[in-house]
Amino acid sequence: MTSGTNLRQTSATSNMPATANLVGQRFKRLLVVKLASSRPILWLCRCDCGNERLVPTRNLRNSNTKSCGCLQRDVVRQYATIHGATADRKRTSEYRSWRHMIERCYNPNIREWKYWGGAGVQVCPQWRHNFQQFLHDMGPRPVGHSIDRYPDKNGHYEPGNCRWATPTEQTRNRRPRTPKQATMSPTAATIQQ
Ligand SMILES: [Zn+2]
Repeated sequence: MTSGTNLRQTSATSNMPATANLVGQRFKRLLVVKLASSRPILWLCRCDCGNERLVPTRNLRNSNTKSCGCLQRDVVRQYATIHGATADRKRTSEYRSWRHMIERCYNPNIREWKYWGGAGVQVCPQWRHNFQQFLHDMGPRPVGHSIDRYPDKNGHYEPGNCRWATPTEQTRNRRPRTPKQATMSPTAATIQQ
């Protein structure tokens, strides 16, 4: 590799000192979109929240800048809750709900399986193998809520057909059953999760 020419350099980078092309790289919440300025070097970055921001190379590389600023602002908001829950996922109620959902559908050795997996209920692929995606789509679980298939109570566990519901909401959405069966219904079992 000769030092004089680099065919991969774009016209935007040709006038500046040799520097790594960071376009396409991700630094925490920031995705580098393009070089916005060569003197000083500033990268246009798009944050996961949708905002854009100009960031010097050094601040990206040393992790001083991890977002447009929303990371700090969001500490007490939902997004940060999700990230915190992800980092600490095994101890979260969301993680337990996710595990139980998969067990109900795919573990024939547990008693509840016959009402879910045995009845053809499935977990969509993007959730089945990815807790973070499940958490991202569902959001944090409010206290006293559990996962409910809604609006289609006979549908699968997938985005658009799941919500965090209170026991009352789940009862309203319950499959019709005789009173004797109702005490053992899947919904009643779900509420215990
Ligand atoms: Zn942001």
